[in-house]
Amino acid sequence: MPKDDEKSPWSMPAVEALRAGPDTRVEDIDANATPGFEGGKELGAQLLEERGAYLSGLQERLYANGRTGDRRSVLLVLQGMDTAGKGGMVRHVIGHVDPQGVDHASFGVPTPEEKQHHYLWRISKELPRAGQLGVFDRSHYEDVLVVRVHNLVPESVWSTRYDEINQFEREIVDSGTTIVKVAMFVSLDEQKKRLAERLERPDKHWKYNPSDVGERALWPDYQEAYQAMLDRTNTDYAPWYVVPCNRKWYSRIAVGELLIDALERLDLDWPAPTFDLELEKQRLAQA
Ligand code: ADP
Repeated sequence: MPKDDEKSPWSMPAVEALRAGPDTRVEDIDANATPGFEGGKELGAQLLEERGAYLSGLQERLYANGRTGDRRSVLLVLQGMDTAGKGGMVRHVIGHVDPQGVDHASFGVPTPEEKQHHYLWRISKELPRAGQLGVFDRSHYEDVLVVRVHNLVPESVWSTRYDEINQFEREIVDSGTTIVKVAMFVSLDEQKKRLAERLERPDKHWKYNPSDVGERALWPDYQEAYQAMLDRTNTDYAPWYVVPCNRKWYSRIAVGELLIDALERLDLDWPAPTFDLELEKQRLAQA
């Protein structure tokens, strides 16, 4: 954050500017927007470093407390359209913190083994351990997004999942995990540019998936599925944040702020020594 005598570049905290509400309309989301932020790209890049360092300090406290018996953890859920920048978010935001303290998981097409289980089975296995910062690159929400759009299960099945997910997240929160859910939106134009870049640049070919092009035609169906997701799973204990992602510098500092807020609210101090400090100092001096 800026020093006391500097004006914050945020006109309102990211948690407020980005919080989904009952009036959030997916079709009205401006993916170019920078809600709450009054600076530009240069300031954004500078803040990413400064705030990344601060985030790292908070995460270290979470980790330290986890090592000394605190059961709490934080889970960042990144759910978004193809090319929205989930991978970059992990690299550039989570990349600031000590990897030892990160429990990262990504969820692709379910494996044959995963298909034999309930859809939340693979999710449960990857929940962050005590003291960890969990990061989900895609999540259980795929089971009400791609699964809904492609009719991979009947409506009678996917339609029950919203309540089930709310219940699942309630239990996760009750067991000490703060959940930060981020819905990442990129415009169709920007997505086209990013896909074109993946075709142009040999260092990005590996990211190109021919099926992503077909998904573009289904965007109205995805919009409907994202709308239902936001309408039905935006709870006070596991809220959604809607992050415009056309400007990567913005989406990264925004998600950084969401994490900082979640960690600050844990009000973490350094764990107290579990030994007699003075005695140990004396012992060491004599050793
Ligand atoms: P990414 O595209 O994020 O780089 P992957 O190549 O591993 O990652 O593939 C992710 C793909 O897996 C996406 O198309 C996504 O929709 C799909 N996927 C994820 N979860 C499910 C699911 N439960 N059922 C069907 N498809 C899924």
